[in-house]
Amino acid sequence: MSELSERFETHDPGEKQAGEKLRCDACPVMCYIAEGRTGACDRYGNFGGRIVRCDPVRVLDYALESGAAVVPFGGEAWAGELVNTGRRFVTAIGSGTTYPDYKPAPFIVSQEVEGVDLVTVVTEGIFSYCGVKVKIDTDRHIGPETATVRAQGEAVGHVTTGEYGSQMLSLGGVNHLTGGSKPEGRVTCETLMDLCNRKPVELAIDGGATVVVEAGKPPVIDGTAEHRMRVGCGSATIGMFASQWRGLVDEVVVVDDHITGVVSEHQAGKVLGWEDTGIRILGRRSTPGRYFKVSEPGLGWGGTTISDPLAILGDWNAKKGARQGLSLLMVSTTGEQFAYYELDGDLRPIEKPFPDRLRKSVGLIEDNCEPALCTVLFVGGAGGSLRAGVTENPVNLTRSVHRLETYVTVGGAPVYVWPGGGITLMVDVTRVPEGAFGYVPTPALVAPIEFTLRKDHYLALGGYEAEIRSVEDVLKSGGEYFNDRATGPAPSANPWPPLAQLQRVGRR
Ligand code: SF4
Repeated sequence: MSELSERFETHDPGEKQAGEKLRCDACPVMCYIAEGRTGACDRYGNFGGRIVRCDPVRVLDYALESGAAVVPFGGEAWAGELVNTGRRFVTAIGSGTTYPDYKPAPFIVSQEVEGVDLVTVVTEGIFSYCGVKVKIDTDRHIGPETATVRAQGEAVGHVTTGEYGSQMLSLGGVNHLTGGSKPEGRVTCETLMDLCNRKPVELAIDGGATVVVEAGKPPVIDGTAEHRMRVGCGSATIGMFASQWRGLVDEVVVVDDHITGVVSEHQAGKVLGWEDTGIRILGRRSTPGRYFKVSEPGLGWGGTTISDPLAILGDWNAKKGARQGLSLLMVSTTGEQFAYYELDGDLRPIEKPFPDRLRKSVGLIEDNCEPALCTVLFVGGAGGSLRAGVTENPVNLTRSVHRLETYVTVGGAPVYVWPGGGITLMVDVTRVPEGAFGYVPTPALVAPIEFTLRKDHYLALGGYEAEIRSVEDVLKSGGEYFNDRATGPAPSANPWPPLAQLQRVGRR
């Protein structure tokens, strides 16, 4: 059992007595915590007779040029300087959570940026409605659509519709977090937190593969690390490279589970004057030179089950151009598998040593493949009570976000906010400083969230004017939970969160 699992299992706030202990009120669990100990989530502890947030508030400094994505954070304890060395951004990482939400957010920070008075409202949100979307760059079949995805044997999500060159998983969500058994909720929460914090997680798919997913790293499928993402489907590969093969080989087949391409029949080959070869593909012909379902999906060539590409060929037709000596290249969509054949006197393809003249074109397919990676997007709904910590009239915040007057970030990273109701956001976890995500054993994920807007807009929304503080004051005095402050350079890929958008809004 993992450390997190043990804490879920052993934690029972109902059994705890106040006594010498202090009550943490930062989430509905309401732990009573003994001196020198931490609560169930490890984010808060009782130190020196007071409840303390155990991690420092992270402040990003846009004056420090990192030259690289600043992850891990690598922040240093605040050294005490008050002179602003540049533009700073108080993230919600380590800021603490206010519970219940009608209390103002832990930090409401004002700052003038290029002549615009801005306010950033900072809180660690508790997300019962959240999950991750995982994109796994691979041709390989990892499991049928809708198949259950498990971690530690518990259902944590499902396989969803694949994308171009990638398999997709949808994990978490309120039904797995709260609607199943206690172990299901606990393991779902642990899985989401680990994925968001960029740790490797092993996932087993019912009727499919076992995949190790780690954000920003290649997927490991059934024990084998994936290296390349396909250049395109079989048809697209034919379209891209048909001219390279002209004059070097009589026929090319790009084997693909989805759309296998045949150059002599494909429009690209026809335009180049490619001769008929009498080839026959055992699959469902879609349009000329494009075949579906040449095999079942699997871990073989081009995401099929096959290890011998000849298995997708029928008899060759001499009346349509087949002849002894006709040359054939078969290649997968990543260029990782390839073979060369020539037809014998009985029009059977016989494998021959791979000719040097074709190596360049196969190498070109490989060169055009991008590195295979796992992408993890955190998806959370901030449309509920969390908004009350920002403004006394929560729906005003939602409207402001959708009017682009309020810019939302997660740990300083830009997010995509879904259109429609509520504030449902998505963020690439590799743009969020490491270790930013936590949990509470309700179970729910804890994620940093910041709302930045012009000060006049904030006040018009019904914001908590009396709680507004300067960045310098935050650095000097901290907040309700007595934790340290740490400054570090802002990730170079993340812009100063609100500036461009909010300046635009200001000019309206
Ligand atoms: S789970 Fe964490 S945040 Fe919630 S009451 Fe316990 S220590 Fe505080």
